[in-house]
Amino acid sequence: MKQAIFIERDGILNLVKVEKQVQLAPVTFEEFAINPAALPLCEHLKGAGFLLIATTNQPGISRGTLSRREMDRMHDSLRKLFPLDDLLVCPHDVDDGCTCRKPQPGLLMEAAFKHHVDLERSFIISDKWQDAKAGRAVGCTSMLLQSPWIGTGHHDFVLSSLPAIAGKILQLQTRYLAA
Ligand SMILES: [Zn+2]
Repeated sequence: MKQAIFIERDGILNLVKVEKQVQLAPVTFEEFAINPAALPLCEHLKGAGFLLIATTNQPGISRGTLSRREMDRMHDSLRKLFPLDDLLVCPHDVDDGCTCRKPQPGLLMEAAFKHHVDLERSFIISDKWQDAKAGRAVGCTSMLLQSPWIGTGHHDFVLSSLPAIAGKILQLQTRYLAA
C-alpha cells in the first residue's frame, strides 16, 4: 500500500482568476497558467516517496463551456511540468448526482483502487473545503492553504503557504514512520 498526496488542480497547480469571490477555472490553454510555487512542493513530496495525484472538478465539460480538447492540452502540460502519477477529473455538473464531484470522495476512491493507496496515511492539499470534506470521508489528512474558500467545516490543518504545507506533511510523515 502506498501513500499519496491528492492535490487540487485549480488554485494549487495552476492559477485562477477570481471574480466576486468566485474562482473561475481556465477554459482555454492560452489562459492556463502554472503556479510556480507548486513546482518545489511537488518535487519535495515526490522525493519523499509519495504518489502525487491531482484531482479536479470540471463541470464546464458537462455545461459545454470547456472543451475536452482544451482540457487535455492543459493536462498534458501539467503532466509534463509536474511529477504527477495521475490526474483525475469529475466532468459532471452539480445536478448530475455523480459520486466523483468533490466533496464526494469518488475520485479518491478511484485512485486508491487503481494505485493501491493507503488513504488513512495519505494527504489532501487544497485551497477549498470540498477537498477537506472528501478527504475526511475516506480518512485522509487535509492540509488547506489559507484562502477565502476553506469554509468552516472540518479540516486538519490550515497553513499560509505551500512551503509550509510541504514542511508539515514531511514532519507528520516522520512521526508516522517513527510510530
Ligand atoms: Zn462526477
